[in-house]
Amino acid sequence: MAKKTEPSEVEIIKAGSNSLRGTIHEALNDPTIETLSEADMILLKHHGSYEQDNRDLRQPRREQGLGKAYSYMIRVVLPAGQMTAAQYVDIDRMCDQLTSGTIRLTTRQAIQFHGVLKGNLRETIKQINQALMTTLAACGDVCRNVMASAPPIENEVYSQIRQTAHEIAVDLRPSTKAYYEIWIEGKPLVNTEQEDPFYGSTYLPKKFKVGVTVQGDNQIDVFSYDSGLIGVLENGKLVGYNVVAGGGMGMSHGRENTFAQIASKIGFVGVEDGVAAIRILGSIYRDFGNRADRKQARLKYLVDTMGLENFQAEFVRRATFPLQPWRELPPFETEDWMGKHKQSDDKWFYGVFVENGRIKDSDSVRMKSAFLKIATELQCPITLTAQQSLLFNNLTGEQVERLEAILKEHNVPTLSDISNARRYSMACPAMPTCSLAVAESERAAPDFITRLESRLEELDLADAKLTFRMTGCPNGCARPYTADIAMVGRRPGVYHLFVGGRLAGDRMADLYAADVKIDDVIDVLNPLLEQYAASRMEEESFGDFYQRVIERSEPRHRLTGKETPTIDLVSSKLVQLRA
Ligand code: SF4
Repeated sequence: MAKKTEPSEVEIIKAGSNSLRGTIHEALNDPTIETLSEADMILLKHHGSYEQDNRDLRQPRREQGLGKAYSYMIRVVLPAGQMTAAQYVDIDRMCDQLTSGTIRLTTRQAIQFHGVLKGNLRETIKQINQALMTTLAACGDVCRNVMASAPPIENEVYSQIRQTAHEIAVDLRPSTKAYYEIWIEGKPLVNTEQEDPFYGSTYLPKKFKVGVTVQGDNQIDVFSYDSGLIGVLENGKLVGYNVVAGGGMGMSHGRENTFAQIASKIGFVGVEDGVAAIRILGSIYRDFGNRADRKQARLKYLVDTMGLENFQAEFVRRATFPLQPWRELPPFETEDWMGKHKQSDDKWFYGVFVENGRIKDSDSVRMKSAFLKIATELQCPITLTAQQSLLFNNLTGEQVERLEAILKEHNVPTLSDISNARRYSMACPAMPTCSLAVAESERAAPDFITRLESRLEELDLADAKLTFRMTGCPNGCARPYTADIAMVGRRPGVYHLFVGGRLAGDRMADLYAADVKIDDVIDVLNPLLEQYAASRMEEESFGDFYQRVIERSEPRHRLTGKETPTIDLVSSKLVQLRA
């Protein structure tokens, strides 16, 4: 196939959008327009919203001669996942009044509303801004929500990590006034607008994800993003950042030239240069990224085509500070911070597991009511985690007791009620709202995990810390390819099965078996699970055991869209192991 060289349609739309205005304002003001134009839908993403339709309703509506049931997803940006109790209370109220009635915590420390009707879109975004939050740059070809390792531990290092994430978010926020015109003022204000000093008129080739953490702590999966900073410590003090670039979880089934990969090591910079380092990575991406083929547009493809050394050289050319050699780091671990933890000498924080990030009330578990009560009564700040769960912060010992009582009153499961298989699981939203989904994820994962839990219990493996992740397509929103076990949708009820990542998030899994029906997954995994139960070494994770079986000594960094399944190889190795 001939290589695409002309700017893609999306590039042309961005360039002609007058700083992301398009005709969104006019379309919102016209009640006869049911859906936005293709061009406005692309621009709308940069304002933090996607048009979606309820895919469950497509067929019945078609039978009734009706069109699709359109609504909007709105994503709220929360750098480092931090919000106040008052903001949470506002989110809960908006959720009830303006959306489909559930709050979804994302895998990147943001919040999503689904099911917002066109007539409520402006009001919802306006109210989010009145609550001192924003949706600007939550989606689109810009720097997305900037993540930071979540624990609200009050020490200098974690404060600096969070501060750096906030500074990057401000530094790379688009300058357009269109956002305020459309959503806050509801009328045009600026006749001519200066081009964005960083993004220009065409913004970035595609999304740009950033995370900030500290050595030893990979709660945010820093290697899964376009760029990241890893704080390096000496004698407990932050002395600078290791810089990584070119990670990303998305790929396309069957396409060899698309891949998911762990970010590459760029080098080390001083503490004061962390924000500038991310800006430089973004600027290289802006200037050299692929703007012709969106399937090749992410930063990881640029690092690959330039070559790491040339990419580093370009970084050095642009930097006014030294890029020093990468500092070796201790191994990473991932703590999810569920339950009660010390925040400072006299304060605690408390993590509550939210399955697949969905905060809702059901007949049996009234999680949404419980969280509202906690935020209202205890007035505690909140941090969202990269595992789609939530930490309540700044609690006295008495408040922890009250929080636990509220959770109990509302039947919200606490740590002792949750298996490890469920605790370390994640699933993307997929059906019915995501237009790219080819299989179920969030709706299928809980029952699948129940079956996995039974098998693990039978094998006396309930104590194993095992990351399970599921996505409805290969785009990888729930970071499946670094998990111990992952299922990635192929078509309804059928998944590719991946094995071999780990909780630390610093290694890629393998395609273990292709096109497996969901009902067969546990049987397909069974020989491996049985052997793991029989011969696992102390503290050995399932992914580590798999890597031992296939005798791979170096961690795998890349997984292409066209992998050969390893199931036959592993089966023969298991026979040898048993002998
Ligand atoms: Fe949609 Fe695919 Fe992302 Fe799931 S992984 S939310 S199906 S794009």
